[in-house]
Amino acid sequence: MTLVIGLTGGIGSGKTTVANLFANYGIDIIDADVIAREVVAPGSDGLKAIVARLGTDILLTDGQLNRSKLREAIFNEPALKAWLDGLLHPMIRQRMQQGISQASSPYCLLVVPLMVENQLQTMTDRLLVVDVSEAVQIARTTTRDNVDETQVRKILSAQATREQRLAAADDVIDNNGDSHNLRGEVARLHQQYLLQSEQPKC
Ligand code: ATP
Repeated sequence: MTLVIGLTGGIGSGKTTVANLFANYGIDIIDADVIAREVVAPGSDGLKAIVARLGTDILLTDGQLNRSKLREAIFNEPALKAWLDGLLHPMIRQRMQQGISQASSPYCLLVVPLMVENQLQTMTDRLLVVDVSEAVQIARTTTRDNVDETQVRKILSAQATREQRLAAADDVIDNNGDSHNLRGEVARLHQQYLLQSEQPKC
């Protein structure tokens, strides 16, 4: 079975950028955000169950899930969040497992933004954390998403702290530097993971 490297980090830390650099080495990427969208895509069992509970009003005219309406429904009925998590999390985990078993590169990367929060590192052999200072996180996210600092801080406060993530990490990428620096960090870890992928799992 392929060595599974979990990749996580806070908002705007650089997970996607890092995953793309590993993909350039031919490494298979399993992305929880992509899977989370697939399990509620039109025609999916996930979306059917949501419609059965909330009615067709929860759909946009093109049949896609109306995410802002769903957020509003959760705000009005907090128990709905637990119901949704109970419905979708097992589906997401199953697809992640499927992605891992289909991986053909020497090791694969499982990218999960809320890995530590949802304790999904149990699905991985090693956890790689992309770490940046809060100031850098805020600066990069406000520039990328054209949002203000207050919005980013609100998201930050709902996520694990840097310390919690670092405590769970086996490997850390310091992404406070420039993109040249980041490429160097990924190159170093790629060599490490290639070597580790040749060792038997314990
Ligand atoms: P999210 O959790 O919000 O999806 P993310 O962790 O995937 O974010 P990215 O989208 O990869 O983060 O990076 C956030 C922004 O910072 C992007 O605009 C990206 O281009 C930029 N960025 C990432 N790393 C660096 C770097 N070393 N130097 C400069 N900009 C960077």
